[in-house]
Amino acid sequence: MFVPYDGATRTACGQGQSAMGPFYCPGDRRVYVDLSFYRELRDRFGAPGDFAQAYVIAHEVGHHVQTLLGQDREAERAAQVYGRKGATGSSVRVELQADCYAGVWANRANATQHILEPGDVDQGLAAAAAVGDDKLQKQSQGRVMPDSFTHGSSAQRVHWFQRGFERGALEACDTFGTDGL
Ligand SMILES: [Zn+2]
Repeated sequence: MFVPYDGATRTACGQGQSAMGPFYCPGDRRVYVDLSFYRELRDRFGAPGDFAQAYVIAHEVGHHVQTLLGQDREAERAAQVYGRKGATGSSVRVELQADCYAGVWANRANATQHILEPGDVDQGLAAAAAVGDDKLQKQSQGRVMPDSFTHGSSAQRVHWFQRGFERGALEACDTFGTDGL
């Protein structure tokens, strides 16, 4: 289910490479995380800590939950209405829902197993903020282009992770049925 690797690996979705960042492959239902991403998260994006890493995995597992729940149909409908890319597109809605599911996981795991230590949630929020489209675009291209968003802005990623964490229920994560992303 969870496959850490270093450099490159074979997946049912083609060759996994570190440049792709962490991803979920519906074809083999596995989460692939290149360990160099954790180094980048810490050193380049300023989001260190074990819970920042847990957030990354929980987000990818969120995509697995979406697969199990058949959310790809919702995503397809959203694509017809809003298009795929862009600030309100289906891709952003899928990704923000995965962030929200990650928050739900943090809530439930803490309720049943008391996993959270002081500062953990802040680490998760910092990681969510670090990988917002606006922040990444600004870093790599010097400007922000909402029309090409695929994951949502830093503020949106923080918002949906927090919402899932506070509510602790998947129903809080309906990113397809809202105008207020
Ligand atoms: Zn994702």
